[in-house]
Amino acid sequence: MATLGIPQNTIAVLQKYHFNFQKKFGQNFLIDPHVLEKIVEAAGVTKDDFVLEIGPGIGTMTQYLCENAREVTAVEIDTNLIPILEDTLSAYDNVTVINQDILKLDIAKLAMERNGGKPIKVVANLPYYITTPIIMGLFESHVPIDSITVMVQKEVADRMQVGPGTKDYGALSLAVQFYAKPEIVANVPPNCFMPRPNVGSAVIRLTRHEEVPVQVDDEKLMFHIIRASFNQRRKTLANGLSNAPQVHLSKEEIQECIAELGEPLTIRGEALTLEQFAALSNIIGNRQK
Ligand code: SAM
Repeated sequence: MATLGIPQNTIAVLQKYHFNFQKKFGQNFLIDPHVLEKIVEAAGVTKDDFVLEIGPGIGTMTQYLCENAREVTAVEIDTNLIPILEDTLSAYDNVTVINQDILKLDIAKLAMERNGGKPIKVVANLPYYITTPIIMGLFESHVPIDSITVMVQKEVADRMQVGPGTKDYGALSLAVQFYAKPEIVANVPPNCFMPRPNVGSAVIRLTRHEEVPVQVDDEKLMFHIIRASFNQRRKTLANGLSNAPQVHLSKEEIQECIAELGEPLTIRGEALTLEQFAALSNIIGNRQK
């Protein structure tokens, strides 16, 4: 039985172990059973699934995952939490806790060893200070992923989900949407956590595309172009790209590429869709050959 997700039980565990929250690890523990159930339900975890949990804390969500999944591996950086997890997860024989920094773990190797290289589900209440490197690391290192269902800062969830023409649209939106379909499944207020974060939170599910949604010859070049376009947001696309080290074309040549794309020379990067960035990077790539 999952029992930690109510405030009294979390407080009892914290007191028993004299646990002190570490701000540097982004520790905000969930204390709302409805939210915990919602996350596990949104992740669609079944007894066929291998689940990677990032940052189990005292094991609150881990208990729910163990009840629903075939196997859970939970990776926690804070050594002080390891004896607590041994206690709170003692009833489950389908969980492994690894005391490591998730950014240093070879997750593709883990998926191979524990799930035969088949797609895994990632479920987490993420430490907000490293949301983007964790998510981009999972996608870029070609870990076999079915879906990533995570609690993140509300503003970051919005950035992942939006399209062109909004202030939140940027390199993160395009990167996430290149690899996956994002859906915000719940908004979560600060009072669902202990201690309360200063920001609103949201649960977002990223379902990995079976095939990449755009035709792109050189993914690396496309992401360089995307980053260069948003680095200098207020500049036109042509100016932004003429300063990009990976684009070896003159400003005039870049303008010709933009014209070939069918867009005016005054256009800014923030107006382009993922399809257009892919097409532009193919045009630029061909020119540079
Ligand atoms: N899952 C728990 C819950 O929902 O109550 C805790 C979530 S808390 C927001 C984030 C957790 O990630 C903390 O337990 C923290 O110690 C852990 N963490 C922070 N940085 C980490 C890293 N680089 N690698 C692994 N775990 C990390």
